[in-house]
Order: sequence, then C-alpha cells, then structure tokens
Amino acid sequence: MQARDAVFLEELCPKLRVRRWRQSLHTYTDKSCIYCGKPSESIDHVLPRSHGGLSITENCVPACLACNGDKSNNDAFDWYRRQRFYDPRRAMAIRAWIDGDIRLALRLLQWAKPSHIEPNQNKKTNTDWALQAA
Ligand SMILES: [Zn+2]
Repeated sequence: MQARDAVFLEELCPKLRVRRWRQSLHTYTDKSCIYCGKPSESIDHVLPRSHGGLSITENCVPACLACNGDKSNNDAFDWYRRQRFYDPRRAMAIRAWIDGDIRLALRLLQWAKPSHIEPNQNKKTNTDWALQAA
C-alpha cells in the first residue's frame, strides 16, 4: 500500500521524482564527483543540455560545483583531459557510464580512488589505503 502511495505521489509531483533520481545518481558514486572525487554537489550533463544532452542517467553524472562550473559547455572528455586531476580510469568510468554500464563505471571509479588520496590527508577515512600501501 505504501509503495503504491509513493508512486502516486511521484506522479503528482514530477519534481519529487527528479529529486529522487538525482539522489540515486549521487548514491552510485558515494556522493563523490565523477571527475575529481571531491564531494558531489551537483549533477553534470556529460553532453551539455545546450548541445542537446538529455536529462537521463546515461548523460548525467555526479559532479562537484567546481568541475560542473568549469566544464560548462565544453566537451566532457576534452575538458577532462586538460585537468590536473585527470585520471584515465575515471575517463573510462565516464565512458562506461554514458554507455549505460553503471556497474563497470563504479568498478573503474573504485579502482581510481586511491590515487587521489594524499598520504597525509584524510587519515581517518584512509585506513584501507594505508594498509594496502604498507
Ligand atoms: Zn569535481
């Protein structure tokens, strides 16, 4: 009964559905920017809306405000390659994501993670990395 009520509510309120969808995208990457790994505060259209990019999961990735704003209407891959934090594994993850293979994208992101953590930072959350490095 509750599930049906929720569906009914979403039909009444498209905004609620969009919000849930956006939240689900952030959840995929554990609320981190797909480009740089910092906390994701926005949803970036890989192919910008101004270039006909659709608001669908395959074209929308969690991004921090800095990446989202800086990328703006640039081609995502051209822009990303020029960034200091460029990581080919993340680029592959974005490709997988827009191909609709979220699972592969997440595996690639998982793989990319450790290289973005400096040894002297995030000591609290970084024990796994420290153990692997030791
Ligand atoms: Zn970012």
